[in-house]
Amino acid sequence: MKKTVLVSGGAGFIGSHVTVELLEAGYDVVVADNFSNCDRTCFEGVKKITGREDLPLEVMDFCDLKAVKALFGKYHIDAVIHFAAFKAVGESVAKPLMYYKNNLESFLNVLEVAGAQPGGCNVLFSSSATVYGEPDVVPVTENTPRKPATSPYGNTKTMCEDILRDTVKASDGALKGILLRYFNPIGAHPSALIGELPRGVPNNLVPFITQTAIGKRECLNIFGNDYPTPDGTCQRDYIDIVDLARAHVYAVTRMMEGKMKKDCEVFNVGTGRPVSVLELVNAFEKVNGVKVPHKFAPRRPGDVTAIWADPTLANEEMGWKATRTVEETLKAAWAWECHLAQQKETGSDDTGKATSLKDQILQAADKANEAISDAIDKVKEYSALSPEEKKAKQDEWNSKLTEAAEKASDSVKDIVDDIKEGADKLFKGKKD
Ligand code: UDP
Repeated sequence: MKKTVLVSGGAGFIGSHVTVELLEAGYDVVVADNFSNCDRTCFEGVKKITGREDLPLEVMDFCDLKAVKALFGKYHIDAVIHFAAFKAVGESVAKPLMYYKNNLESFLNVLEVAGAQPGGCNVLFSSSATVYGEPDVVPVTENTPRKPATSPYGNTKTMCEDILRDTVKASDGALKGILLRYFNPIGAHPSALIGELPRGVPNNLVPFITQTAIGKRECLNIFGNDYPTPDGTCQRDYIDIVDLARAHVYAVTRMMEGKMKKDCEVFNVGTGRPVSVLELVNAFEKVNGVKVPHKFAPRRPGDVTAIWADPTLANEEMGWKATRTVEETLKAAWAWECHLAQQKETGSDDTGKATSLKDQILQAADKANEAISDAIDKVKEYSALSPEEKKAKQDEWNSKLTEAAEKASDSVKDIVDDIKEGADKLFKGKKD
């Protein structure tokens, strides 16, 4: 029988590429996403690439424990790959609680429910090279000591690694875990039907390069040219998104086939090849025959000088190896940007935007329904009390009823906000 993999956050950049590779490797996939940081474009692209119009999609929030339980009740899940998390470093510094709450709670819920599955479950967590901080020695192996994180986002990665390790250990064999530490995933699927879709001004280098090349941005700032590296700009290990996605298939298969050496394993997912910012920009211009206006700017706070992977363990233990050249990857990234521009010109991305708006509103409506039902139940409960009981607990009931009414009212406000926000987005899309 085919095994089923749940991909939380499966409509995003990495999740959508992983879904394609899993389907192509013969797994059944359930995609779950709350579309808080992406629209339907990539999900629709996955269906087109794989011809799987029937690909299950669950619009849900992993912070909602009830919803996670219902999801595991609906499907027999053999493995979960967990991507559903916020990922903007700067935003995490400004809103730490939002990051801790979302990124930790969603993962805790996954582990709680996965660990209670009869027959157990396999969990793959999307970690990051950010856990190594500024390494003392490069390349980094899985045994390179982790450094204290420099942002709440980075901290959630380190914390989720520990949470998975501890939970697997305590689970008596019910849970198996793999932590994949990604280096810098870039590029897009060769079909140009899925790729990175940053909201607003991109923080990451490659989307900034492609948007500058197409004329959406005036000039790329290269942050720092006085680093102690061969050309003075930072060095990273840029890993093709399809190669990275394939690493997940290897990891899931390793878990399913019982090939793990330990119940919780860690693998670096990188190429082992350092590339500087300047080298990447030059390679992009050369391979695509386009100019990327750029200038040197001050260093960006928090950037590490140089980091790249020693991928030997993933190569030898999992049998996975990065295969695509930087040139192939940069061609794919450019083809994706051109595809987006073409879609905008023909207006064919409106359908995707409208569908994700619909999902957002339906989700808010579900929440409102729940809050209103809860308020009604509380009023009924109160009405059924005797006059003595009402009197004795008047204060307690006052606050209970007020709180329920406020929750119901807030949830209705959320729907209205979503409708307004959605309408604005669609209108803005037309003006751009
Ligand atoms: N970078 C840059 N200009 C940009 C965005 C990024 O020079 O507009 C540099 C950044 O300073 C770093 C490298 O590109 O040296 C990779 O940055 P990115 O944000 O893509 O990934 P990170 O390694 O920070 O996770």
